[in-house]
Amino acid sequence: MTNSTRDPSIVLRAENLAKTYDEGASRVEVLRDVNLTVQAHEMVAIVGASGSGKSTLLHVLGLLDQADAGKLWVAGEAASGLNERRRSQLRNRALGFVYQFHHLLPEFSALDNVAMPLIVRGMRRPQARQQAQALLQQVGLPDRASHFPGQLSGGERQRVALARALVTQPACVLADEPTGNLDRHTADKMFDLLREINRDLGIAFVIVTHDPALAAMAHRQLHMQSGNLAES
Ligand code: ADP
Ligand code: MG
Repeated sequence: MTNSTRDPSIVLRAENLAKTYDEGASRVEVLRDVNLTVQAHEMVAIVGASGSGKSTLLHVLGLLDQADAGKLWVAGEAASGLNERRRSQLRNRALGFVYQFHHLLPEFSALDNVAMPLIVRGMRRPQARQQAQALLQQVGLPDRASHFPGQLSGGERQRVALARALVTQPACVLADEPTGNLDRHTADKMFDLLREINRDLGIAFVIVTHDPALAAMAHRQLHMQSGNLAES
C-alpha cells in the first residue's frame, strides 16, 4: 500500500479496475481501466448512458461485487484479496448505501428501519433508537418516526433510507440513482439534503445519477464511457 492510500483524507481509491461479464457466447467488458480517488468530505457524481457500467462500478466500490483486476482501498484499507467475512466487516464499518428503491422493511416503523443497522451490530435497542431518532431529525423527519414505509411519501421514504445509510457513521455513502424514482421538485429537495449532510457531517458521497442538473451540484462530475471514468 502506498502512503497516499493510508491517508485518512482518502475514503475510496480504485486503480485500474476491470470487470467482464461472460454471458455464454457474449462477453461484456463493463469496466476496462477505472481509476478513481474520492477524498473525505467530497461529493462526486457519476453520469453515463444506461448500461455503461455505473451500477457495476458502485457494487465493486461498495464491496458487494469483485473486479477481475485492479486494486481497491476503502477507508485506507486494502480491499483487494480480503476474504468474504473481512469484506463485509469493512463494508459495514466504512460504507453506507442508498438505492433507487428504498428497500425499507415494510413491517417496521421508520425509526426501527433506521435503527436496524445498529441493532445488527449488537447495539441495545434503546440506544439504537435514540441514535436513529437523531438521524431522522437530521433528514428532516423527526415527526415520522412511528410511521411505516407504506404511510410515507416517496421522498420521505428516500430520506428514511438515507438516515439508515448514515446511522453507522460511514466514511462514504454510495448512492445509485437515489432520486431516480422521484419527481423534479422532490428530487431537488433530496439533492439539497444530500449536500447539506455532506457539508454538515463531512461524509463523502458517490452518487450515480442520470440527471445533469443534480450532477452539477456535486463537487466533481465523472462520466462513465466505454468502461472508463473521465472528468467532465
Ligand atoms: P448502468 O448502471 O450504467 O445502467 P450496469 O452496471 O447495470 O449499467 O450494466 C453494465 C453492463 O453490464 C450492461 O450491458 C449489463 O447488461 C451488463 N451486466 C450487468 N450486470 C450483469 C450480470 N450480473 N451479468 C451479466 N451482465 C451484466
Ligand atoms: Mg444502474
